[in-house]
Amino acid sequence: MLAPVRSFLNLFLQSACPLCQRATPTEFCANCTRQLQQNKLPNPAQFWQEQPAVFAWGWYGGNVRQAIRQLKYDHQPQIARPLGQWLAQSWLDASLDRSPMIVVPIPMHGEKQKQRGYNQAALIAQSFCHFTGHSMQVNGLERVRSTEAQFGLSAAQREHNLLQAFKIGKAFQKNKPHHPVLLLDDIYTTGATIKATTQVLHQQGIRVRGVAILAKARPWKDEANS
Ligand SMILES: [Zn+2]
Repeated sequence: MLAPVRSFLNLFLQSACPLCQRATPTEFCANCTRQLQQNKLPNPAQFWQEQPAVFAWGWYGGNVRQAIRQLKYDHQPQIARPLGQWLAQSWLDASLDRSPMIVVPIPMHGEKQKQRGYNQAALIAQSFCHFTGHSMQVNGLERVRSTEAQFGLSAAQREHNLLQAFKIGKAFQKNKPHHPVLLLDDIYTTGATIKATTQVLHQQGIRVRGVAILAKARPWKDEANS
């Protein structure tokens, strides 16, 4: 193939990096990937002994925050693939627990998911499972109520709202999982969502091993909840 033709075709194989708009053959350009990786936690398992057990790839700051916002609000579902892969890589490197687990992404409310076209936590979970070999149950939980307007509420009110927001999903209603659940979400802020979903699963006698999170808000910063 003639060189000019090839480079012309290459233009079509490249897409714009969602963070800097430069052309890139991968989801993020090399430069943005480097910057994203700077937010990676030196020890992703540092919160694994806490209650709930939290495994986090990185901090919710810098361009990680920007990437997650793009994934959620700018219709860039392809971003979930590398994010899930990085979380999986950290998980495998940490070799915390090799026993089988069922990965359950934190669900979105149906209406909201319809608007967005996808649940970003489910997309990250899909990629995570692809690279770790864990199985996923996307219908393990169901969000029956939207909890958009959580601002200005006390922690207790937020918690109460969230408890009402989730119920056991269709898949687990039919068949309880034989293995413990590993919840998965994009951001972890106060932990209220994880507490609520864990409680819902526990009420049905389903064990929860912990939660895998792409990015955790720094303890001194209470970022806007997902
Ligand atoms: Zn870039």
